[in-house]
Amino acid sequence: AIEIVGVTKVFGEAAVVDDLDLTIGEGEFFSLLGPSGCGKTTTLRMVAGFERPTKGSILLGGTDITRMPPAKRPLNMVFQDYALFPHLTVAENVAFGLKVKRLGRDERVERVTSALGQMRLTGLAERRPTQLSGGQRQRVALARALVNRPHALLLDEPLGALDLKLRKEMQAELKEVHRATGTTFLYVTHDQEEALTMSDRIAVMRDGKVEQLADPRTLYEKPTTAFVAGFIGTSN
Ligand code: ATP
Repeated sequence: AIEIVGVTKVFGEAAVVDDLDLTIGEGEFFSLLGPSGCGKTTTLRMVAGFERPTKGSILLGGTDITRMPPAKRPLNMVFQDYALFPHLTVAENVAFGLKVKRLGRDERVERVTSALGQMRLTGLAERRPTQLSGGQRQRVALARALVNRPHALLLDEPLGALDLKLRKEMQAELKEVHRATGTTFLYVTHDQEEALTMSDRIAVMRDGKVEQLADPRTLYEKPTTAFVAGFIGTSN
């Protein structure tokens, strides 16, 4: 499990994450949903280790990782802009994602091959990112994270740059990766429809706090506040 315990993040004067408590279960598809600026990305970045909480702690499988450097955490973040290297091939990009560089050559090759296979990229291994579609690039970014066989994947609006049709396809693909790997997914989105269709549970955030935490059906049918009702009801 990922445990976020009493976590606050202050930038300047403002607490953008405010005394947050969340437990994300093993293998769960868990989404942070809310409007721009509510603190979703900052929360994810603290779990990843790119930001240090002002207060509180973050535990992974019972171990306190609050002070562990990002590269040492058994987690991988997938960014919206993919951040692929244009001069490297697909296979090289995926191999570059390996956090532990001391794996033997056979193990490295095996990991890269299986991550490419998992994301249906085997036939594209020698291409460069510029020779790929948006959806294929997103799959490379996922393969580059999965190559580490991480305990959890942290996804920050991973489909935000894709058009609607591709977004639908990638939603199904992400669900399949989640199912096939059993990896915990912590997913950030401002798109309520996306969160509702994909998640086991959703935390609706507002001003750095959780407004309601529930499964999609309960959120949809029994929102506990007007804010949640309004946010879940809007189609954007
Ligand atoms: P979005 O969907 O727009 O990314 P979000 O819910 O992910 O929104 P955050 O990115 O977590 O929100 O930002 C929360 C607030 O913290 C925003 O008001 C933002 O301007 C502020 N913020 C984020 N990072 C920093 C920083 N490094 N320094 C100062 N303020 C920051």
